[in-house]
Amino acid sequence: MPEAAQQSPQQQPNVMESIVSLCKRRGFVYPASEIYGGLNGFWDYGPLGVLLKNNIRDHWWRNMVETPPLGPDGKVIDMVGIDTAIIQNPKTWIASGHVGGFSDPMVDDRETRARYRADQLAVYALEVVAADGSVRVDNEVLFAAPGEVGKTDNVELFEPHRKRVASIQKNNAGKEVRPVAVPNALQDEALRAKVIAPGASAPGTLTAPRAFNLMFKTHVGALEDNQSVTYLRPETAQGIFVNFKNVTDTARVRVPFGIGQIGKAFRNEINPRNFTFRSREFEQMEIEFFCRASESAQWYQYWRERRYRWYLDLGMKQANLHLREHEASELAHYAAGCADVEYDFPFGRSELEGIANRTDFDLRQHSQMSGKDLRYFDDQEPNEEARRFLPHVIEPSAGADRGTLAFLCDAFSEDEVGGEPRTVLKLHPRLAPIKAAVFPLVKKDGMPEKALEIYRSLKQRFNVYYDEKAAIGRRYRRQDEAGTPFCITVDGETLSAGSVTVRERDSCQQARIGVGELASYLGERLGA
Ligand code: ATP
Repeated sequence: MPEAAQQSPQQQPNVMESIVSLCKRRGFVYPASEIYGGLNGFWDYGPLGVLLKNNIRDHWWRNMVETPPLGPDGKVIDMVGIDTAIIQNPKTWIASGHVGGFSDPMVDDRETRARYRADQLAVYALEVVAADGSVRVDNEVLFAAPGEVGKTDNVELFEPHRKRVASIQKNNAGKEVRPVAVPNALQDEALRAKVIAPGASAPGTLTAPRAFNLMFKTHVGALEDNQSVTYLRPETAQGIFVNFKNVTDTARVRVPFGIGQIGKAFRNEINPRNFTFRSREFEQMEIEFFCRASESAQWYQYWRERRYRWYLDLGMKQANLHLREHEASELAHYAAGCADVEYDFPFGRSELEGIANRTDFDLRQHSQMSGKDLRYFDDQEPNEEARRFLPHVIEPSAGADRGTLAFLCDAFSEDEVGGEPRTVLKLHPRLAPIKAAVFPLVKKDGMPEKALEIYRSLKQRFNVYYDEKAAIGRRYRRQDEAGTPFCITVDGETLSAGSVTVRERDSCQQARIGVGELASYLGERLGA
């Protein structure tokens, strides 16, 4: 669904800038191949970022595949994992519909050379409202601005738009001038000719919308001809479907059961933006849950709730998290239901994860394309007619990068400690890249030696960090910015009485703990 469709009241573009800058400064995320000028839509995760993203991914894998939640009947649900190739036989993508249909309509601006998704470019006219309520639409010139088609909330006024508003206002003193949406203007040649694109100086510079396939093409083998064309997978899901029979033949799973996969996906997005939110290379965490058609509605409800709760359990603020059921008009032709988990990013409310009831569409398509019978055989079903069937599928599909970005945004906070401003990432301890930092209070009196000893021993079990540089307050603040939940300081009392101070990141409260109890103290609080 279009980004920033709904602008949340707490929309704060400056916050996004601060988060991007923190990510760069502290080694969470860098532009990919930055020394060569970067590459639009590609990102590299630095030392802190890779830890954070791995923690999210590992938690998903453990929580969904290895120790899955109990089913609606209180029984353990069957889940297995898989790791399939990024490049599959191209027939996979014909069967799935990606070769024929995985495209977004795009328009190019011939003047600014910018490219837009047609469904993310709102076109509007200006209307003049008189005191008696009568309305006159001024549609000699139309304006385009990034936003949801058909809506005019928060449209951005570019220079020519502002000039036009000012001139109409001048000629209509006392009347209100406001934008009014012109749906489908980009599809209509005559209307399109009147549209001034964002940043353009004159109307008529936008091309007609053209379908643009989002799959990255490549060639397998030495010959670069039509026979050798393959694609980088645009989603991990199809690798699961094409292995459905392998898994049921080799793993002792019975419907209902799920297959989970985490892996890279690639989409040649027309307009990568909002930092890592819309990238061209990203990672997905997907489950295909196979069940009988008669139980699919119940499993759909189950996974919607379960996946929404997963984010809350990791500390995401409920006020920022929404579960939105799609309208029937938004559903793919084969889908029986779809809901998005949405997050209020600083740039607007946008999709974090989709949960779809895909019916038996994918298995049916792959059966037909491959000629293989992919029906499931239930040998315990007494009714012979019901023994062989194509299971229906519930698909919770999450993005690891979008998840990482949402957790970063949710954790980002600026407050004051002791009259000084601080930036702190209030990440759930499970997700925090560094679990604790160990400091000697000063660099003398045997404190560094003692602190290093504690660091060495804790490092066997937790990802801890040692730092003896700069004043203690400065060291605390560096760890706050990295999201480290605990700071352990070795001081005079450590040497005389064997205890350290442990400072908790969010409250800044300190407790004295015996050195011997540190590991269990941290273990309890980190859930490790
Ligand atoms: P959108 O409408 O934002 O393009 P989508 O509905 O096409 O997303 P799906 O195909 O349902 O997305 O993919 C499942 C998940 O994969 C998304 O919820 C998102 O978390 C992630 N994802 C999809 N496209 C991207 C992308 N370009 N960059 C980062 N993550 C993505």
